[in-house]
Amino acid sequence: MNWEPERLDRFIGRANAAYYAGRDPFADFTTAPEITQVFGELLGAWAAVAWQAMGSPDPVILAEAGPGRGTLMDDALRAVGQTMPAFRAALRLYLVENSERLRAVQAEKLPGAVWHDRIADLPPGPLLLLANEFLDALPIRQFVRHGAGWAERFVAAGQFVEMACAGPLPQPLPQPLPQGEGGVISLDGAIFEINEAANAIAAHLAARIMRDGGAALFIDYGPAQSGPGDSLQAIRDGKAADPLTNPGSADLTAHVDFAALADAARAAGAAVQGPVPQGIFLARLGLFQRSGALGRRNPGQAAALMAAAQRLAEPDRMGRLFKVLAICHPNLPNLPGFAE
Ligand code: SAH
Repeated sequence: MNWEPERLDRFIGRANAAYYAGRDPFADFTTAPEITQVFGELLGAWAAVAWQAMGSPDPVILAEAGPGRGTLMDDALRAVGQTMPAFRAALRLYLVENSERLRAVQAEKLPGAVWHDRIADLPPGPLLLLANEFLDALPIRQFVRHGAGWAERFVAAGQFVEMACAGPLPQPLPQPLPQGEGGVISLDGAIFEINEAANAIAAHLAARIMRDGGAALFIDYGPAQSGPGDSLQAIRDGKAADPLTNPGSADLTAHVDFAALADAARAAGAAVQGPVPQGIFLARLGLFQRSGALGRRNPGQAAALMAAAQRLAEPDRMGRLFKVLAICHPNLPNLPGFAE
């Protein structure tokens, strides 16, 4: 038990590093690529179309951040090899993963990949980056509004403690706060979250895409508009758990603030497409047609494939809370899934 107050983002960073180093996250939760092979296939097709829109650069970096078991990229590469062999031949595969244990799992499925710890370590050049449920695992800070001031949440002995904020607040906390009815600020006690690591990644990718071209696709869960609320959660053995006790034993995640990501990317000069809800994005990419076609070839799997597609797309399941956002060079047209 740690009795010294530790800033929440440092606590989360430490807990998740231990969690991903030591546990099998997929015993605790299931992600879209593990639900159906069609998810990775569609994202592979998306990347192939984006590559053509970039002018088919050869070589091109195809990167994935937080590849988990490597399933998404395995499915994507198989689809690309069948439908656009020129892209398959041009791409150089890079994986951003800081868990040694998961790197070993990924290496079995994706021989020939090159690994880096951080997105900022990727080599220069035209880039296509995919990331599913990566940003939600990055550490957030939480600020609590009190009167006209702010406190920041720290963790000590398995509990939140609030420390008065000294010095300037990190952007983009709402300043000034939205006005309630009649101009009265009614947000006392409200919690605001900021994911500095995610916003820095968006700014970094925007700058390098402006220089070298390309696009980065983020799929994650969170609201389209920023707002107050505590979204920190822990999943252990498939169930909600206390995020502050036994660090490293549970996966800690928070909602992704897509508006903040988009702002960070635009401030660095890049264009943004989306966010659009995952269900709409995948349906536009052909989720149901592809699942149906696969089912006709494998009748024993047909019902399971359709059920999986529905799980990803239905609004009250993963279809609405999950969003898709692309950071891209402004000279790219509307990419698949984002056009009305
Ligand atoms: N994209 C996969 C896995 C999601 S779990 C899927 O959809 O199934 C989150 C992934 O991000 C894991 O691979 C984890 O090890 C990795 N990860 C988490 N925090 C990271 C960090 N700070 N740097 C690099 N990788 C990280």
